[in-house]
Amino acid sequence: MIVPALLLLLVAVQIQEAKPLLTDGELLEMVREAIPAVEKATGVRFKAPVWVRISARAEVERDLAEELIPQMRLLEPGSDPKDAPEHAKHLARIYGEILIAKYAWKKGTIHVVPATLRKLAAALEQPALLERDVLRVIVTHELVHALDYEEYDVLRDFTSAKTPGDLEIRNALSEGHAQHVTRRVFEAAGKLAAFEMYEKSILARPPKLLGEAEQYLASLVTASLKLAYVDGRAFFDALEKTGRKTYVQDAFRNPPASKNGILQPERFYDVRIEPAFDPGPAFEAFGKDFGPEWTRRTEELDQGELRTTFGTFVDAKEVEAALKTVLDAHAFILNPKRAPQSKVVAAVVLRLESAAAATKLLELSVRLSKEKDKKFTGDPFKITKADYGTLALPGGNPNVLIRKSIRYQGQDVALTSIVGTAGAFEFEVVVSNEEAGDERIQALVGKLLEGLPKP
Ligand SMILES: [Zn+2]
Repeated sequence: MIVPALLLLLVAVQIQEAKPLLTDGELLEMVREAIPAVEKATGVRFKAPVWVRISARAEVERDLAEELIPQMRLLEPGSDPKDAPEHAKHLARIYGEILIAKYAWKKGTIHVVPATLRKLAAALEQPALLERDVLRVIVTHELVHALDYEEYDVLRDFTSAKTPGDLEIRNALSEGHAQHVTRRVFEAAGKLAAFEMYEKSILARPPKLLGEAEQYLASLVTASLKLAYVDGRAFFDALEKTGRKTYVQDAFRNPPASKNGILQPERFYDVRIEPAFDPGPAFEAFGKDFGPEWTRRTEELDQGELRTTFGTFVDAKEVEAALKTVLDAHAFILNPKRAPQSKVVAAVVLRLESAAAATKLLELSVRLSKEKDKKFTGDPFKITKADYGTLALPGGNPNVLIRKSIRYQGQDVALTSIVGTAGAFEFEVVVSNEEAGDERIQALVGKLLEGLPKP
């Protein structure tokens, strides 16, 4: 989600009121020009009229909140369904900080918010974002959404998503295809630079960000945007190269089952690939002793997210090579229902190509942990103690036990983690501010490993 520190910076930027960036009449003219270009690039025609308007931020937030309500059970698992409207409103307000345009599918309306675009251009120190051609890129991108929502059920009905990962896959298909088509339209018009300017701005961060820890947090946010806009586009670019005429319909009607499927488009038409590994039994066994007072959620971690956890702490080439060997990665997170922030118990399981690859990743993870000890020595995180050891496990699994104290916003947080391998699996168990003696950790790891498929 969106990092508060990043938002504060955006809010703090002074907005200069000048003549309107765009009038409704000019916007309408842009849409009139863009519609035939989008129809030509996709080979699909608009069936229903598309409405377009210059909007205020509050209007976009209202439409977004309405769309988010049915998604809240996935975005905030464990929260009371009757709080969903209020939570959706809150989330929409956060997104409102950066939403420069939106297709509100329930109303068939494209909103463009020039005030937010101005603010972003100032925060990113990129005045070129306000140029006409970039505005045309934005309008074209939203028109592709409008067309796709007419054509494909998977986008219209986000409420049928089963997991947060499923939501992210749909989002990547939606944004990826919009970018894929928009790029093609601007390439054909000889205006690729305007498209590239816009695409870069999506992942850009205000240059004034402070310390290394904040940069790191912001990079985690950027990772989810990257999956949607950049990896999503690369996915469609790669499918197009297979030469199949139906590649767009194929992707929307039979989406990849995992987020890694977006990152590995070469596997999309390959039927020989073995099914993804199901972490359900291992996570169920792991969470068995935690009662109904704990919320539990499972998340699939794609390679992009794994990469960002390594940040710039460890050599990028080494990280890249190790991540290529990861087949699946899943996380299971437990929080107390009361005060969810107060405690965390989590398990992560990665399936790799081989036992040697798992051993290599374990070594890299420990190195990452030690690098963080060296770097996180100021605000907002300060690692005040870090001890490394090993724990005797029933199966004799190689492992490293790590106990740390972290000072965060004036409070001390105890963090125990254990990373290890079991054949071609690498696992990690994290316990924070909760009983974490050796026996407890042994028991938790034991249950997790029991639930893993045997080689
Ligand atoms: Zn979009």
